[in-house]
Amino acid sequence: MNGAVKWLLVAVLCSLAAGSPVEAAPAIGAAPPGAGKTRTVVLIVSDGLRWQEIFTGAEADLLNEKEGGSWVAEKGLRARYWRSGPADRRALLFPFLWGTVAKRGQLFGNQALGSVAHVTNGKAFSYPGYNEMSTGYPNDAIESNEFGPNPNATVFEWLNHAPEFRGRVAVYGTWNVYDDIFNRRRSGLVMQTGWALPRKAHETPRDALLRQMFETTTQFDEEDAPNSFLQVPLIDYVKSGRPRVLFVGYGETDNWAHQGRYDLVLDSAHRFDHFVEQLWNTMQAMPQYRGTTTFIITTDHGRGSGLTEWKEHGVEQKGSENIWLAVMGPDTRAAGERSAVAPVAQAQIAATVAAFVGRDYRAAVPKAAPPIEAVLPANPR
Ligand SMILES: [Zn+2]
Repeated sequence: MNGAVKWLLVAVLCSLAAGSPVEAAPAIGAAPPGAGKTRTVVLIVSDGLRWQEIFTGAEADLLNEKEGGSWVAEKGLRARYWRSGPADRRALLFPFLWGTVAKRGQLFGNQALGSVAHVTNGKAFSYPGYNEMSTGYPNDAIESNEFGPNPNATVFEWLNHAPEFRGRVAVYGTWNVYDDIFNRRRSGLVMQTGWALPRKAHETPRDALLRQMFETTTQFDEEDAPNSFLQVPLIDYVKSGRPRVLFVGYGETDNWAHQGRYDLVLDSAHRFDHFVEQLWNTMQAMPQYRGTTTFIITTDHGRGSGLTEWKEHGVEQKGSENIWLAVMGPDTRAAGERSAVAPVAQAQIAATVAAFVGRDYRAAVPKAAPPIEAVLPANPR
């Protein structure tokens, strides 16, 4: 389907769904009949991680010093990440994604198999991407990551208004710009971002060590903390704060690509896979979450391709609009790696997040894109 036809279809569906004047106050939709088993939904993003690595693993031409900027000797890097078959390579790079998520859930975005996942914001950089996935529609006014506080509420802010979820909707991310994207001041979400570590009145030895690391580690990027610095408070928060709706943002994969360090892109991607596994296992070990938690895993934008453009992304780098998306949980059919399916748009993520916890986001925000039906409960497709 071409873009114009698709958006016309979306517009028609939106106007049908609205049914009442758009001026109506955005009410929280009640759980629709036939809602599934999911009670907690987690949206996880690895920034700027390409679909090419997700579906085919490490790229041969970049496993070196010249094109890939690697500081690891080629032989060692190939031993770590190269196997001759793409299925082996991707499983080596992302053992949890391919060993567990692909077996129990669904993955979209392998263009070689006729599955396209893409952004519709026309920008293909971070703020427009996070805005699109979390509000459900692009905002043309967002032309830089320094746009400032988001004028539009995200699905997370919207869900936080519902008594069932209030105070238990959280954003944990390595990047401090999430404060603007999720409008920290207005949204009232629980937020842990960037290098700001909240001081605790009563520190455990673990808290004290983490604070020491935050205070003494050289900041490679003032806006963005390393992924491992997020993982510790994230795991602690999940155990103590018992969130119902959670956003997790990991930044390293984008940062190392911009630095032209393909070796560290691969290391970050591999560790990201492990962090997702650790979060999944932590939650599955808790009665509150076991068998009732859905993960949606994706990226905010793609990047260019070839020997140079893999480092950057945006309108200049062709293909940056292409992303990938994985879903696993008790309501999602185990269809694995999808092939020959209709394209999925980043804007559909917001309504999908809401639908998993039984809420109709588009009843309140008609311009949001529809949820991804194929991953929702009782869907025959
Ligand atoms: Zn970037």
